[in-house]
Amino acid sequence: MGYERMDTQFVTVDSGITEEAPSKELEAASEILKQGGLVAFPTETVYGLGGDALNPDASMKIYAAKGRPSDNPLIVHIADEMDLQKIAKDIPEAAYKLMDVFWPGPMTMIFHKQPIVPDSTTGGLDTVAVRMPSHNVAYELIRRSGVMIAAPSANTSGRPSPTSASHVKEDMNGKIDMIIDGGDCRYGIESTIIDMTGEVPTILRPGYITREMIEDVIGAVEIDPAISGESMTARPKAPGMKYTHYAPKGIMYIVEGESTNTVIRCINRMVKERQVAGCKVGVLATRYNAMAYEADEVIVIGDKEDELMISSNLYRSLREFDARGVDYIYSESFAGTGLGTAIMNRLLKAAGHRVIEALNV
Ligand code: AMP
Ligand code: MG
Repeated sequence: MGYERMDTQFVTVDSGITEEAPSKELEAASEILKQGGLVAFPTETVYGLGGDALNPDASMKIYAAKGRPSDNPLIVHIADEMDLQKIAKDIPEAAYKLMDVFWPGPMTMIFHKQPIVPDSTTGGLDTVAVRMPSHNVAYELIRRSGVMIAAPSANTSGRPSPTSASHVKEDMNGKIDMIIDGGDCRYGIESTIIDMTGEVPTILRPGYITREMIEDVIGAVEIDPAISGESMTARPKAPGMKYTHYAPKGIMYIVEGESTNTVIRCINRMVKERQVAGCKVGVLATRYNAMAYEADEVIVIGDKEDELMISSNLYRSLREFDARGVDYIYSESFAGTGLGTAIMNRLLKAAGHRVIEALNV
């Protein structure tokens, strides 16, 4: 299904908006949602492309605007825990414990769905993914509209997720009714997804809320083997995981090595080879190492020690390589623990799992 070309309205809403503050912009956005239209809005993870989760036409429009395969389910965003029972059933005790600690916030849980949730929202599954965002603009939009909002990331399918309104504009201008600018996203990568329908809760997508943080609250959980990157052949449980996501236009490689110097030397060697072949080459670097690279475009993703800074800059950096028209991107690699798990998961996807082991030569 194609989308209808339309005029997209751009509005700004202060990210500090309170419950009492009047907002003509949020009123207009609410009206659009109630009538089955689409509004892109900021969340603490990435920008979402929102439509009424209970209106099948709205979810069809979301798939069309994104160019997304319709078996890739959407996340339903709520602002009131009381709404959860309307869309989900068999909610285990552990889920309430997690909600107490992590909602509102960057954690999505999967439950068996109530019949009221249309198949188009869940990609035909009998389960539904639910999240309560903490970003004031997202939260107020859901609360004021009274609409439970189905929202995947507001990017064209296959492009890096948007972490600012300008990224949304690049992808969605003319395809949706409204874009709300609420500033840059704090975390910059999508929510942690945890499947609560099985015997043992299972993390399907790593995010800012780490396995360690979850286990502190409910005890041992499992991690879907498909997200570790180690198992490239494991069949992903979350339908969306089978699609290549987050890809920049340039071909990307992640370079690992025993020492920083080994990695830098290896990257510089590969950069030179590509340049000799007439290609434009980029390096995704941590701040301290950036000066050492001899590439056409070196983009600093953040300080190695500051994982939140790295996650919040990740997609922006990939989009910047697109804008600068590089043919190849070499990236440093990151720790596979804590928030680093989510960072490496997104980088591996962006790189199509192309990893190079730097040798000491
Ligand atoms: P996004 O990637 O931000 O568009 O968020 C949607 C992702 O959430 C999908 O690609 C799936 O990986 C996941 N998801 C949503 N609903 C479900 C579900 N019912 N079961 C498993 N995964 C889901
Ligand atoms: Mg997405």
